[in-house]
Amino acid sequence: MLLKTLGKYDVVVCGGGVAGTMAAVAAARNGARTALLEKGPFLGGVLAMGYFPHSYYANTGKKAIGGLAQELIDRLVKTGGSLGHLRYEGGHLYTITPVDSEMVKIELMKMVREAGVQVFFETIANDVVMDENKIQGVIIQSKAGAQMIEAKMMIDATGDGDIAYMAGAAFEKGREEDGKMQPVSLAMRVSNVDTLETIAKVASDQAVLMAKRPGADRDMPVYFVARLGKWDDTEEAKEIFTDKNHQMFCLCTLENDIYLNISRIVGVDSTSLKDNSQALADSRLQLEKIYNFIKKYVPGFSKCNLIGGTFLGVRESRRFLGDYILKEEDIIGGKKFEDNICLVGYPMDMHDPDGGNVVFTPIGGDGTYGIPFRSLLPKGFSNLAVAGRCISVTHKGLASARTMSACMCMGQAAGTAAAMAASINGDFRNISVTELQKKLEKAGAILN
Ligand SMILES: Cc1cc2nc3c(=O)[nH]c(=O)nc-3n(C[C@H](O)[C@H](O)[C@H](O)COP(=O)(O)OP(=O)(O)OC[C@H]3O[C@@H](n4cnc5c(N)ncnc54)[C@H](O)[C@@H]3O)c2cc1C
Repeated sequence: MLLKTLGKYDVVVCGGGVAGTMAAVAAARNGARTALLEKGPFLGGVLAMGYFPHSYYANTGKKAIGGLAQELIDRLVKTGGSLGHLRYEGGHLYTITPVDSEMVKIELMKMVREAGVQVFFETIANDVVMDENKIQGVIIQSKAGAQMIEAKMMIDATGDGDIAYMAGAAFEKGREEDGKMQPVSLAMRVSNVDTLETIAKVASDQAVLMAKRPGADRDMPVYFVARLGKWDDTEEAKEIFTDKNHQMFCLCTLENDIYLNISRIVGVDSTSLKDNSQALADSRLQLEKIYNFIKKYVPGFSKCNLIGGTFLGVRESRRFLGDYILKEEDIIGGKKFEDNICLVGYPMDMHDPDGGNVVFTPIGGDGTYGIPFRSLLPKGFSNLAVAGRCISVTHKGLASARTMSACMCMGQAAGTAAAMAASINGDFRNISVTELQKKLEKAGAILN
């Protein structure tokens, strides 16, 4: 079948989550004609589900994240979409950076527009056209039917690594011993919560982050973790939760309006059509059970309203085998690399694939480790980079590297490198990594 070509771009980025959006902005700002393909109707991916991007500061207090990831927060602070980085005294992280996911969607849109990125929404990339080890383009599917977009350089930021997969790149999934992956979750948004009652009665043993919102006259909860062990013996808790003393992460976007990270479904491979569909159905139905449970038992929630259930969040799927595989030892040891493209200050946050509790493992040294450029380059392809949670990393390593601030930095590096490679011979491995690092530092990224 001869397909209509939608255009030829220096850089095509597939996936408009945080990694892909930052990749596209960086590529365009560095002079590349750039297209961004997103299967949904907005940008942000999992960041648009209501979560806060963690660990701009490492637990040692060292600033880990700069560049476009920091620019996003600066812009949101100006528009009232974020309170900036708030010190989380006594918490499991040094700072918390609350953001309003609706404002995030808007700000990301402004960033790509200003950079001159051509965005194609509701467009799914569903095949690749290869010329030996080069991806010539992607075949996309939209309301306009199947079309092709040609690319000099390709960045796969689809989370699951769909492009690299279709190109035949080698990957791994899950734990070494049994292939099991971290559980998937569907965030829910509830309004009209009496958060002061909740923190007084449920979160008493946990650090609670309080802050004054613009225009407010008092500090109110912004972030806290509640433990639900008191209700372990209820029929409802037994039906919903896979662990005892379940943790409920409460992200108070607005006053008394919370995104709850509480649901969890184990044993799901998001790249299996059957698993994914089953999990989407199960998690949607689970929402009602959780809603009824919190209303009935959890102090402060008795009058709450369910005002949103997002889409299924996937913590882990394909990890592509690149020129370097980032390992948990590198993370625990706080290792830096000659080809560092960013730092990460988020501890390993393992949600037990078998459904047990969440375990945090700290980063050693100065509290940060580096991500090497080589981990963005799947073996065997000259013009393909991956960014975000599908990079070359071990199962345990991904429990840290998947954090949103890190994904944004990887995106910025991949986009900058792609623009550089597009202006020479279209091979990521032929650019000067020192030059790439200089450009990233000039753009505010922190590499050491
Ligand atoms: C439940 C959950 C809670 C989390 N909590 C936090 C937290 O509190 N703080 C934190 O920092 N991190 C958190 N994380 C981790 C973090 O959110 C993700 O790892 C990170 O956002 C991944 O970013 P990404 O850009 O790689 O992928 P995604 O955000 O998944 O974005 C991928 C994008 O690609 C699009 N796409 C996919 N396939 C195609 C295709 N074939 N064609 C076109 N478009 C496609 C998708 O629609 C999506 O927009 C959480 C993750 C989950 C799942």
